[in-house]
Amino acid sequence: MVPPEPASGDGCIFCRIADHRAPAYVVYEDATTMAFLDLFPFTRGHLLVIPKRHGARLTDLPFDDQTQLIQTLDTMCRRAERLTSDYNVALNAGARAGQIVFHTHFHVIPRYGEANPFHPATRTRLSEDDARSVLRELTPP
Ligand code: AMP
Ligand code: ZN
Repeated sequence: MVPPEPASGDGCIFCRIADHRAPAYVVYEDATTMAFLDLFPFTRGHLLVIPKRHGARLTDLPFDDQTQLIQTLDTMCRRAERLTSDYNVALNAGARAGQIVFHTHFHVIPRYGEANPFHPATRTRLSEDDARSVLRELTPP
């Protein structure tokens, strides 16, 4: 039994971020996509890439939106390479796959030699100082 997924609009935190109705440390934005820092990063520079159009999972999106999302993912991988050459890209689809926010998003998780940084219990909230510091490196002058 697959649990129900929350609706779009006000009920969706990533829709609110996409509409600038909720705060985020925005790394990149264009007409159809956005990237911002994960609030509980697994590693320094952990960011999320989203379509502005709501869709719980990638397969809910029209192909055009998927294409634009992948283009922004490419841009964000190149930005992550400013921090380190190595990174993970992940997409969780469905609660049993670990999806918590039911608005499609790719994770880009820079890797610096950690054995396994994916420990939910030890995640701490991103500080303002850490966010500003990593944003300076991720955003082009
Ligand atoms: P997932 O498990 O793939 O659904 O991941 C959702 C991610 O969104 C988690 O890594 C959360 O830390 C992150 N997250 C949740 N709310 C926010 C927010 N308001 N701003 C930034 N990241 C968030
Ligand atoms: Zn949404």
